[in-house]
Amino acid sequence: MEPLLRDTYAEINLDNIGYNVRKLKEIVGKDVSIAAVVKANAYGHGAVAIAPTIMENGADMLAVATLTEALELRNYYSDYKIFIMGYTPDEYLEYVVKNNITQTIFSLRQAVLINDLSIKYNTISKVHIKYDTGMNRIGYKDSQESIDEIVKIFNLKNIDVEGIFSHLALTNREEDDKQYERFLNAVGKIEEKEKTFKYKHICDSISAIDYPEYRLTMIRPGAIIYGMKSYEDDSVIMKTALKFKTKIYQIKELQPGEGVSYGYRWKATKKTSVGTLPMGYADGYPRIRDSFVTIHGKKAQIIGVINMDQCMVDLTDIPEAKVGDEVIIYGDGTDNTIDIQGMADLLNTNKNEILCRLSRRTPRVYIKGGKVVKVLNYLLQE
Ligand SMILES: *Cc1c(COP(=O)(O)O)cnc(C)c1O
Repeated sequence: MEPLLRDTYAEINLDNIGYNVRKLKEIVGKDVSIAAVVKANAYGHGAVAIAPTIMENGADMLAVATLTEALELRNYYSDYKIFIMGYTPDEYLEYVVKNNITQTIFSLRQAVLINDLSIKYNTISKVHIKYDTGMNRIGYKDSQESIDEIVKIFNLKNIDVEGIFSHLALTNREEDDKQYERFLNAVGKIEEKEKTFKYKHICDSISAIDYPEYRLTMIRPGAIIYGMKSYEDDSVIMKTALKFKTKIYQIKELQPGEGVSYGYRWKATKKTSVGTLPMGYADGYPRIRDSFVTIHGKKAQIIGVINMDQCMVDLTDIPEAKVGDEVIIYGDGTDNTIDIQGMADLLNTNKNEILCRLSRRTPRVYIKGGKVVKVLNYLLQE
């Protein structure tokens, strides 16, 4: 195994990811396929490292946002089905076709391009049609013209129109219902022309749980696979997979009046024990004013401004803390740790953004059966 070489790292529990995928499969049943969303480096968890766990526990394909994310996975896995949910510009479609990747399209122009490339490479390429039902992001605008054009795509011989999908804005139940109705209505009109889809999908994590009747033949869960709960249904309990950790590097005793970090934004009002952590905003921790970490099951306030590479914590109430002790930067919320939702609340953002911040400098450590099975140092990869 590679040496860790750093004490600030993200610990990822593969058993928890496996559990979440199995549990989700159990909930949706065998008739609903799962396109596991592993964009943004699997929400910070490391797409390449966790892909086998996801696929072996019940996912049918891996969904990403960009061509480069798809190619990264294809470099490691020749057999997994990989689906790009985003747009790929015309000039890069050749990479899609050559690498047997399933592409989202929403124009006849791109369908023809993919068809021509598929003839050139003597292959049949799978595509999913994106149908916009109100999000106004990408996809065919809901109209009869769009439906007529989609029907034409089916005539292209080297294209397999495997799926059609839409995405909910998750505004409220009423608006979501309208989007779902628009989607079903459009799909119905296409299917009337004897053009059918193996995969019809509209659900992300939240809607896959809270709107079971929307699942159709496939869902596209991301967050829930990593154990994050944004859905309402409290009976569905998943397991957080990621903890962000570091160690204490130095401890100093400060006298009243001494300051800490740039601008002395924090000053000691009494004798204070201060610990330095080798963790800063370049590792993926937000540069926020008021937050804490957990040491020996106790909360330690971060004091002074957070630097790019280091930050300081108040250890006065944790006298047992010593250099080298483990620090939970964020965890699953147990044992006085702040969880990812707690971090998101501090930053006024969502859980995904917190996870996406984890940077390349932060090694990922994978745990299975209670043991470290892999260490991934992005900076030391070729
Ligand atoms: C990111 C994304 C998802 C997954 O969303 P979660 O909320 O993480 O489940 C599903 N579909 C599309 C089109 C996406 O972009």
